[in-house]
Amino acid sequence: MLRIIAGLLLLWTPYCGFSHALDNTIQNAPADVNSNAGDIGAHSEADVIHSSLSVDVVTLPQQTFALLSSEIPPAHAVRLAWQPQQSLDGLHLPTPVLVVNGARTGPVLCLTAAIHGDELNGIEIVRRIMHDLDPDQLSGTVIGVPIVNLQGFHRTSRYLTDRRDLNRYFPGNPYGSSAARIAHSFFYEVIRHCHFLVDLHTGSAYRTNLPQIRGNLNIPEVAAFAHLFGIPVILHSEGTEGMLRHAAVHAGIPAVTLEAGKSQTLQESAIRYGVRSIRTMLNKLGMVDDDNDPVLLESVFYQSAWIRVDHGGILFSHVQLGEKITKNSILGVVTDPITNMRSEIVSPYDGQVIGMAVDQVVMPGFAGFHIGVQHAEEQRPAVHAVSAHKQTNPIQMPASE
Ligand SMILES: [Zn+2]
Repeated sequence: MLRIIAGLLLLWTPYCGFSHALDNTIQNAPADVNSNAGDIGAHSEADVIHSSLSVDVVTLPQQTFALLSSEIPPAHAVRLAWQPQQSLDGLHLPTPVLVVNGARTGPVLCLTAAIHGDELNGIEIVRRIMHDLDPDQLSGTVIGVPIVNLQGFHRTSRYLTDRRDLNRYFPGNPYGSSAARIAHSFFYEVIRHCHFLVDLHTGSAYRTNLPQIRGNLNIPEVAAFAHLFGIPVILHSEGTEGMLRHAAVHAGIPAVTLEAGKSQTLQESAIRYGVRSIRTMLNKLGMVDDDNDPVLLESVFYQSAWIRVDHGGILFSHVQLGEKITKNSILGVVTDPITNMRSEIVSPYDGQVIGMAVDQVVMPGFAGFHIGVQHAEEQRPAVHAVSAHKQTNPIQMPASE
C-alpha cells in the first residue's frame, strides 16, 4: 500500500504539472533534472504519505483527445497513422498508431515498440495490451505504437535502411539526417502528447535480457514510475543522448525502458511478463481497475557490469537468466575449437544475471554476461530503495536499448 501511495504522489505531480510544462521548459529541463540527483533521500515515506493526503485524485468524464490531426471521442478506440514527413527511399510507410481514449480523465500513457525493427516481443506486448483495453473502463488515454521502425521491421533489422540506429537520434532534428528527421517527427507528433512513456526493447546481437525496467532512478518521478510495474528487476540507467526515453525525460515526461528477452524471436514467457507488468502499472496509475494486482519483490540495481570474455572460441553458459550468483561463480566456459584451450568466465561480483549471450562463437572482448551488482541494502521494497539511496558510480556498459 505504501508503495502505491508513494507512486501516486510522485507521479501525480508530473501528471498535473511536470510534463505539462514541457512546451516552455525543454531547454531548461536537463539542468533542473540533473540538479535533483542528490535529492533522492529527501523523499521519506512520511513525507510521501503526508503529501499524498493533500492530493485530490478525482476522475471526471473524459474529453475528446486530439492526435495526428484526429479527434478521438471519449470511450473510443481508433487506429491512426503516423507518417514521417521524409522517407529516405521515397516510399511512404504510414505507421499504425493505436489510441484508446477512456471514458474518464486520467494520464496519457504511451507504449512504443520496435524502435529496433528486429525486436519482436514488444510488438506483441503492445498488441495484447491495446486490444485488451476496454475504453468504457479506462481512465485516461493509452497510445500504442507497436512498430515504430517499420523500415527495420520489414528487413528484420535493428536499423533504419541507412544503417542508422533510430534510438540514437531523439528528440531529432527537422533539418538533420534521415534518422534525425524521422525521430523529430515521431517525437513531436506523438511522444509530446504523453504524460508517461514505456519504450519496449529486447537484448540485441544474440543476447537475451531478463524482463527488467530501466530508468534514471536519480529522478524521483522516473523512479516512482519504475516501481509501479511489479517487475522483479529494476536497473538504474541514465540512458544516453539520443535514446527515446532519455529525450522524453529531458522534455519532462517520466519514461522507462522495458527490456524482455531477445531479438528476432517471439518468447511467450517474456511477453507475458511484459503484459502483466504493464497491466500492473496501469492499475497502480488508476487507469484500469484490475483485481489481480501482483506485487513482486523487486531487486533494484544501481550498478551493473558486462563481463567480457578474454579468449575466443565456443561459449557455453553455466548459468541461466535471472540466476543469483556470487563472486567467483563460473558464468561460462569458452573453448577454442582448434587448440582445445579452455577458459572459464568468472564473476567478479555478487549479483544476478540480468542479461546474457546465447551460446555462440565469440571473439576476445565479447560481452557475455550482464550482472546486476548486488549491494546488500539494495534488495528492499521499492519505497525504501528509492528513499535510501544516493547515486553510486555506475559501471559503464554497452547500451542495448
Ligand atoms: Zn532495442
